Amino acid sequence: MVPMATKTQDLSALWKQILDLFRNEMSPTSFDTWLRPSRAVAFDGQTLTVAAPNAYARDWLESRLSNGLRRKLVGLLGRHVQVRFVVQPQAEPTAEVAAAEPASLPPPLPEEWLEAAPATEEAEEEDLPSLPPLRLHPRYTFETFVVGPTNEFAYAASRAVAERPGQTYNPLFIYGGVGLGKTHLLQAIARATRAAGYRVAYLSAEEFFNHFFQAIRNHQMDAFRLRFRRVDLLLVDDVHFLIGKERLQEEFFHTFNALYYEGRQIVFTADRPPVALAALEERLRSRFEWGLIVDIQPPDYETRLAILRAKAEHMGLRVPEEVLDRIARHLEGNIRTLEGALNRLRAYGELRGRPITLEAAEAILADLFPRKLQVDPQRLLRMVAEEFEVTVEQLMSTARSRKVVLPRQVAMYLLREDARYSFPQIGHFFGGRDHTTVMYACEKIARAYERDEALRKRIRRIRERLYSAS
Ligand code: ADP
Ligand code: MG
Repeated sequence: MVPMATKTQDLSALWKQILDLFRNEMSPTSFDTWLRPSRAVAFDGQTLTVAAPNAYARDWLESRLSNGLRRKLVGLLGRHVQVRFVVQPQAEPTAEVAAAEPASLPPPLPEEWLEAAPATEEAEEEDLPSLPPLRLHPRYTFETFVVGPTNEFAYAASRAVAERPGQTYNPLFIYGGVGLGKTHLLQAIARATRAAGYRVAYLSAEEFFNHFFQAIRNHQMDAFRLRFRRVDLLLVDDVHFLIGKERLQEEFFHTFNALYYEGRQIVFTADRPPVALAALEERLRSRFEWGLIVDIQPPDYETRLAILRAKAEHMGLRVPEEVLDRIARHLEGNIRTLEGALNRLRAYGELRGRPITLEAAEAILADLFPRKLQVDPQRLLRMVAEEFEVTVEQLMSTARSRKVVLPRQVAMYLLREDARYSFPQIGHFFGGRDHTTVMYACEKIARAYERDEALRKRIRRIRERLYSAS
């Protein structure tokens, strides 16, 4: 039961919110004639009773607004409520109702939207086109989502939205790099809310575009609009797809408004924050920023390990802890890479029928791990000398001509970067040079490497030869 049920004041505030929502999508004449003179007179938690000033008005409201009203109530109260219309002659709105300021009204309605308002007055539930089927991955649920410091905020916000759609963070905007769990969270919201009985549309921005495109081609824009504007939740994946598609943005903008002002929940994901969606029309981008914006960053070591454990277990894969640790330590990228590593281990296990040891894992995943460099310093010197057409002796000498100073510095830089020598070690290697000289050389080349394309090419060539098999 909602406490609101008994308090007249709350009932008035609720009705005021509903009126404001309807006002935005009806012609002023219809609104003034039918809706303004009616009011909510009772709410027992199950059924809202609305009083109209005469039988004619009651019939009109009943036939035209029942469904729209029920939907708005879902948006405002977070659950389904019945509606009953009665006749009560002196049903002028009281001064109290007129004055009551509802707690959380959306920002004022933009002018440009008014024309595109959905035709709630005419639209009866039965006539509405069906929603696209929900295609959800069975594993993308809240339960299988491993929470860590880099995704906990996105996770918590998604859960809150799934529990009370339209009432917490609206819109919710989740952004982050590839493979970090955005789609997973979005589908988890879709699954949970559908199970709770909400009408849910989940699709990628690209699919939205396809529906849109088809509707234009088949002259079915009305059906298209109704279809997406009757949902309780609209979940759109990868909205960066909208960049550069102006008509699509326009349509998306109207869909957004139609839903938003009815208190329906909207969730977006993108690969970057709204401010970085630079090419997006400003008014659409600003909509994205109305609600809550959360990011997902690449997982830290602990979370990677937890994800690996969970996934290995789910796959029924027996992997020694030291192998999981090795993967978690060295695969820092996204979660798909982690899954890829486990898939490879599984394939190996199935193929060879052997347990996965650390050695086996090292071999199977060698190309994923950073190279363990066994750089032979003499070989490195030879490669540098060849590239710069000097001799190894010249490199090792104290000669100061430009011709040998640069390659010598490059050799020092590579010993440092690739062979992981310390500055004093490098100084020693070059016949007892001071480590500050080495430091200077390494820094100079590191800077030049950023700016100097020709030098970068030379160093790349040396590395290629250095790491090729021969
Ligand atoms: P995005 O949409 O951000 O590119 P996905 O949601 O497709 O990434 O995630 C990529 C894969 O990683 C999916 O298989 C997903 O289930 C998995 N994944 C991502 N984050 C997590 C997590 N925190 N816990 C468990 N699995 C995750
Ligand atoms: Mg995705």
